[in-house]
This record gives sequence, C-alpha cells and structure tokens, in this order.
Amino acid sequence: MSQVKRVYTFGNKKAEGRADMKNLLGGKGANLAEMCLLGLPVPAGFTITTDVCNEYYKNNHTLPPELMTEVWDAMKKTEEIMNMKFGDPENALLVSCRSGARKSMPGMMDTVLNIGLCSATIPGFLKKTNNPRFVWDSYRRLIMMYADVVMEKADGAEPAEGKGIRKLLDEKLDEFKKEKGYNSDTEITADELKFLSEEFKKIIQRTLGKPFPDDAKEQLEGGIKAVFKSWNGKKAVSFRRIEGIPDDWGTAVSVQSMVFGNMGDSSATGVAFTRNPATGDNLFYGEWLVNAQGEDVVAGIRTPNPLNDETKNEQNVHLHSMHEAMPKTYEELVEIREILEKSFHDMLDIEFTIQEGSLYMLQCRVGKRTGTAALNMAMEMLHEGLIDEKTVVLRVDPKQLDELLHPICNPEAEARVSPVVKGLPAGPGASTGKVVFTAEDAVAWQRKGEKVILLREETNPEDVEGMRAAAGILTARGGMTSHAALVARGWGKCCIVGAGALNVDSARKTARIAGSDIVIKEGDVLTLNGTKGNVYTGEVELMDATENPKFQEFMTIVDKYRKMGVRTNAETPEDASLARSFGAEGIGLFRTEHMFYGKGSETPLFLLRKMILSSNLSERRGALDELYPYVKKDMKNTLEAMDGLPVTFRLLDPPLHEFVPQGAEKQEELAKSLGINKEDIAKRGEALHESNPMMGHRGVRLGITFPEISEMQIRAIFESTVELINEAKDPHPEIMVPVTGDVAELDFTRKIVDRVYAEVCKKFGVKEIEFKYGTMIEIPRACLLSDRMAKTAQFFSFGTNDLTQMTFGYSRDDTGGFLHDYLDKNILAADPFQTIDQDGVGQLIKMSVDKGRATRPDLKVGICGEQGGDPASVEFCFKTGLTYVSCSPFRVPIARLAAAQSSIRFGK
Ligand code: PEP
Ligand code: MG
Repeated sequence: MSQVKRVYTFGNKKAEGRADMKNLLGGKGANLAEMCLLGLPVPAGFTITTDVCNEYYKNNHTLPPELMTEVWDAMKKTEEIMNMKFGDPENALLVSCRSGARKSMPGMMDTVLNIGLCSATIPGFLKKTNNPRFVWDSYRRLIMMYADVVMEKADGAEPAEGKGIRKLLDEKLDEFKKEKGYNSDTEITADELKFLSEEFKKIIQRTLGKPFPDDAKEQLEGGIKAVFKSWNGKKAVSFRRIEGIPDDWGTAVSVQSMVFGNMGDSSATGVAFTRNPATGDNLFYGEWLVNAQGEDVVAGIRTPNPLNDETKNEQNVHLHSMHEAMPKTYEELVEIREILEKSFHDMLDIEFTIQEGSLYMLQCRVGKRTGTAALNMAMEMLHEGLIDEKTVVLRVDPKQLDELLHPICNPEAEARVSPVVKGLPAGPGASTGKVVFTAEDAVAWQRKGEKVILLREETNPEDVEGMRAAAGILTARGGMTSHAALVARGWGKCCIVGAGALNVDSARKTARIAGSDIVIKEGDVLTLNGTKGNVYTGEVELMDATENPKFQEFMTIVDKYRKMGVRTNAETPEDASLARSFGAEGIGLFRTEHMFYGKGSETPLFLLRKMILSSNLSERRGALDELYPYVKKDMKNTLEAMDGLPVTFRLLDPPLHEFVPQGAEKQEELAKSLGINKEDIAKRGEALHESNPMMGHRGVRLGITFPEISEMQIRAIFESTVELINEAKDPHPEIMVPVTGDVAELDFTRKIVDRVYAEVCKKFGVKEIEFKYGTMIEIPRACLLSDRMAKTAQFFSFGTNDLTQMTFGYSRDDTGGFLHDYLDKNILAADPFQTIDQDGVGQLIKMSVDKGRATRPDLKVGICGEQGGDPASVEFCFKTGLTYVSCSPFRVPIARLAAAQSSIRFGK
C-alpha cells in the first residue's frame, strides 16, 4: 500500500520541503523549508500538507486517522534538534501552529502560539526560564488565543456581537488593569497574570461549557484542526472570492518551535521588507520592538522602533533603531536579507525574533507592494542582474499599472477610514471633491475652480459635459458597461456606478444612504476610490503616481515579448493621440455616435435630431447632407491622429430614440427648424419609443431601414481617406457593421459600400482606396453562423458587452440590481461584464473564431467590449488566437502588459 506523506519536517539546515513546493506546503511551509536549506537560523518544526486540509473537509471535519502518528514522529525530530521535549515536565518545548496557503492571505486565517503550556509543563518552564512573569504572560496569551480560535470559532459557535469569548476575556483584562490603576499590560505582575489565567479558565468553562484543555497533546491536535477550520472562516472565504483563489487549494499548517522575543531586554521581535514596499527603493525597511511578541508589532499598541536610519519617520525618529541598539544582530539580519534576495530573486517580507541575543527567522514571503514599487523594483533588479527581462515583465501585475496612470488614495490615509457606501469600480484611480447633483452644476462649479463629484441616479448622454467637468462620478444605478462607466473609463476618470444603497433625490439635491442615517447634501466633500468602488465622506489624501521615468523603459521591454496587438476604443483626435502615447497600435472601435455627446456637439446633435425626426426620405437626406461635414471632419481628424495605423469606424449603433430631445425648449427649436409644430415633434419622438431598445431598432437594422444613414457615414470615411492621401498622409480605414446576426445584413450593407466607393473614386479620380470591411460579433447567432459571416467580413470584432448581455440574457444597464447578489451568493464567480465569462461567452467566441477562419484563414479577429482591457480576458483572447484587443486609452498599457505576460506564459 502506498503511504501518503502528510508531514514534512524542517530544522538544523535541513528540510524535506523546498521553495517550489508551495502548492503542497503553502507559502509559509515551503519558505521555512527553503530558509533551512539556505542555512538560516530557523526554529525547527514541520508542515502538514494542504492535501490534509482537503481530506479534513472530505471526511466531515475529521483529521485522517494516520495523521497524528506522523505528527508525533515529526515532533520527535523537532525535539532532537531543539534539545527540548513537547509536554516534558522539566524541559518543555512550546510550539506555534500557523496557517499558510499557496498564496499569502494575510490575517485571514488563524494562529495559535505557546501551545504546550499546561499544569504538567509550567513548573519546569518556570524553573528553566527563571522568569515567572514571562511564563504566566505566555500562558494567559495561550488561553486567550486558544479559547477564541480553537474552542469558539473552530467549534462553529456564533456568539452575538460583543459576546465572543475573546471580547469577554479582553474585558476582564481591562477591568483588572483599571482596578489596579495600570496603564499597560507590562505593569501586571507575575502573580497577577497567574491569577488572571485562572479567572480566564473559569470564564471559558462558564461561557463555552467546557474546560480549557490542560494537556499539551490535546492542545496541539485542537490547534491543527482549528487552522484547517479557519480556511472556511468568513474572512478567508471573502478574501478568496476577491482574489479569485480556488476553494480546493486548502491551507497547510506549520507547527514550529516557539522562540521568544519577550524574554527581556536582549530579546526582540520585528518585521521587515528587503526593499521599500511603497516606493521600491533598494533600502532595508522595517520595524522592531524590544521585549515583545510578534503580535505586539502589528497590533499597533506600542509604536514600533525603526529598523535603521532609512526607516525613521516623524513618529519614530526619537526611538532607537535596531542598527543602533543591536548592531551585531542587525548586521546578521542584513546578511540574511542578501542571501534571501539572491535566492528568491524578489523582494521579501520577513518576520524575525531575537531570543536572548540569538536571531531566528520565523517567516519569509514575497512581499506585497504598490504598483510603483513593483515597477521600480523590477527594473532595478534587472539592472542589478538579479532577474531577466521575462521575469521583469511577469513581476508587475497588469492591474497595478493603473496606479501609475491615475492619482490614487494614499493607502495609509485610506486605512484609517471606512467606506460609507460601495459600488462597482467603473473608472480607476481616486478623486475627491464637492458633491453636485446635476451636470449643469458640475460645469458651473468647475468653472468657479471647485473640484466636484457628480452624483446622479444614473447618467444619460445629456450629462456628458458635467461628467467631463467632474473630478469623479458616482451613480446609484448602472453596471460596468453603463454609459457613465464607459465614458469615464475612456477619459481615465474616477467613477463608481451601481452604488445601490444611494437613494438620490435630485430635486432636493440630497442622497440618503440606505441602512444608515447619512444624508449627502450638495457641497459635501466625498472621496471616491474608483479602483475599489469605495465611497468615503470627507477628504482622503490622494497621491500622484504618474511621474515615473522607469515606466517607458519597462513598457519597451513589455512590447519586446508581446505578440498580440493592442488597439484602443476612441472617438476624438485627443483620445486617439492620448492612446497612441500609451502605445495603442490603432483604433479598434470608433463609436460614431460619440460625436453627438459633449463639447462641440450642439450643432451635430441638433442636425442628428432633425434627421431622426424627419418624416420622409427627402427631409432625412436634407438633414444628413447638413450633418455630413461634421461627421467627415471628425473622422478625418481621427484618421490623421492615427496616421499610419488602422482605424475601425463603426456605423451608427444606438437606438435613435436615445437622441430625441426631452426638454420643451429643444423640442420647440427643432419644430421650428423642421417647419412643424411642437406636438408633432412629440408624436414623432413617441413613435420611436421601444419597450426593449437594446434589442430593438439599432445597429445594422438602422441602416437596413435607412440606408441613407450608412451611406452618409461610408462616404465620409472614403472621402476623408482620399483627402488625407492627397495630403501625403497614410490613413487605414476599416468599416465595421454593428449588431449583425446574418450574413445577408452584411451583404446588404456591402452593396452600399461598393456603390459609394465607386462614386468617391470617380469624384476624386482615384483607382482604389485601401480599406477593410468587417463586422462586430455581438449576437450568439452571429457566432453560430460565423463561417457564413466570414464570407463577406474581412474581420470580426467581438462586442463582448452586447454578446455578454445577449448570451446571459442580462440587460447590461440593469445588472446593478442583482449582480451583487449573484456574486455574494456564489452563483457567479465574477462580473461577466468586467471579465469574459470563459465558460459560456468564451465558448461562443472560440467557436466563432474557428468557424470564421475555416472560411477565411486570414480573418483578422479582435475584441472591443469593455473586457478588452481586463488582464484575464486579454489572456483568454491570446489563447484563443485573437489578432488584437481594443480597450479605452488608459487601459492600453495594462492590455499591453497582460498580452506580453500571456506570450511568455502560453506562447509557443
Ligand atoms: C459591445 O457591445 O461590446 C460594444 C463594444 O459595443 P457598445 O458597447 O457600443 O454596444
Ligand atoms: Mg455593442
């Protein structure tokens, strides 16, 4: 029978595990083993594998029967190395029991320290240490932690708020200190700690109905079970959802000999980063405390001392650094820092303890860092020869690049406040400003020099000026692809949508937050963190992370390894130039309708409305002729800004009624211009009303009913192209038909293209104009029939906003009402409007690509839905063989990086 190995030992410069065994031993277990192999001083111990965690859950919360035998065997080895014995009356070894998943989940799971203290071991421990205060303090800490983690939480008890055992014991401790007039724990005497420990045990028996175990072995077995149990604790489960960590990874349990930083003034404990995690500077960075245990450093009760001069700041400048107070041990630590970086080729976060002058390493893991630090460090390590170019590219999380392109909340300031309401993180970065409730106010206040947050129930095209003027946008309704989100992201503007708890009363200019008594009024200051979707009242300090000389150098390396193209979605020459400066290789989606929103749109919008409300062909042609010069100018300028690169112009897409004027004044003006009365205008507007406009008269259907609309746009594309060629420019237009479901629609539109093409060639006396003709794929039927679509289409571009909407049957503008429930209740793992649903929508995309290329092997395939800038979706697109992804300008660098990482990871 094959014997499964469940326990891996480490200690005395030897280990059964290694750094690359994280899946089995968790990050902590694998790195403890590695540190031993590197010859570093690590207290001996052993790691129980993540497989055992899965066995524990499969066997209905019981440990495999063979496990404890293996544990006691491993304990024997640990005892030999440490020259102590677990549970021994004279020379007791104490251990800690700590969690460790494959990926670090800081603070999400449980830990128990000082296991092994009981009535059998305490007398010997007292004798050995000759330090009764230390012994009784360790004991009371064990009781507090064990009661909370093992006896209450792991046992599934769910005490009422404020009635948890930890809280009751803390209250007892506070009460005692108050009675004695003590200010800090350190004033409590040994005898008093002993007394308190007895009191604690009574409270535990009374509250939990069982005694605190007075047996070392029982304590350890309980600790192991509790750590496994904490894998499914609330915090850990939520963290896994957010980080996309699978449930079946499980946690390992590391049992390690205790060393004590609280044995007097030659003992200490600390945490450090091998480089500065905020800036990436190559400086040793950390904090430490004399005569303390690890939890004291992180708990914030005492201000920790700086590790060295580099770590000194306003708060700790008066405190001794470790460099000053323990120079020899500090030097030893500096050496360890070098050994670790050379071995792990990365910045590490370490925990250490000094017990009576001897240094011990308790943990090391790859350190968390800001986007700026990630980039700076990667570049520096490249120059130091520590890592190669491919590693540089893989070192920066594409999402972190956002930070380099937008102002962000200062993480320290943000940690001190809690969000008052949350929504969907639609536009990254952060902004702070005064609240206004209308687009007009946003513009007016901004002109006065105020920074404003535009707070709306939802936004519509008429709000665009206000959105542009605002520093940040907050809406109660709408999803990630709602109008506000799309527009804001395109501008790189901070934006939160679908904050469902906001009850907006635009008339009164107030917004009530459901479930609280907070009412936001005009002029109140709010801060938005658009990367997280958090809304804070008041001003939270922001940081500017944009200026970084290493950025360009990094992106040059990124492009060296990238194989898939990256384009942008842009509609104005300004956005096109911006995207170009971010490295866009063309425009993958030019939404023609965007020229009717925002600055300078007054006249074209008026003419468009005139066209929409025309009642016959000649009226409509008249309006289109008037509109033509505006459309052409817009297209020409964009082609010029993208000189030498392709620009995909999409024919008009939105349902026309979106543009029907609502205000009486505008209606009157239009009536006058059309020579009809106001009532008729209203009637014509009503006639355009649809119950389900997103599936109504839109996309290619508009051009089927009104071919003259397509004709006008196609003419503008061809004429601006010829004009630019005549000006010695190099335009590359592509014509794209939206919302198609049958090749016959493409053939119909192609006839118009061919006719206009011939007319323009004739008019300008040219033989040919280079262009491509293709379609968006946004309807499942188009995916099913892609072999036929590719007969006419030279390229496909997946409009995954609509494709997701139609595949799921979720209205993309109405997901705010239910999607969070789907995510909270684990029905969906992620918002499919943010990241491609690879199981469903992804299958359709794959099928479409295969069928399309079977007909036309050189079919160019792209994506231009919002998911085109999402790293996981970019990876999917790469694996599916797409030619390019297209996304909003500010996400272009993110997509470039994600594409390069995909090439390195999955390229042939
Ligand atoms: C899409 O549907 O994915 C798309 C890009 O088009 P729009 O968002 O304009 O409908
Ligand atoms: Mg679409």
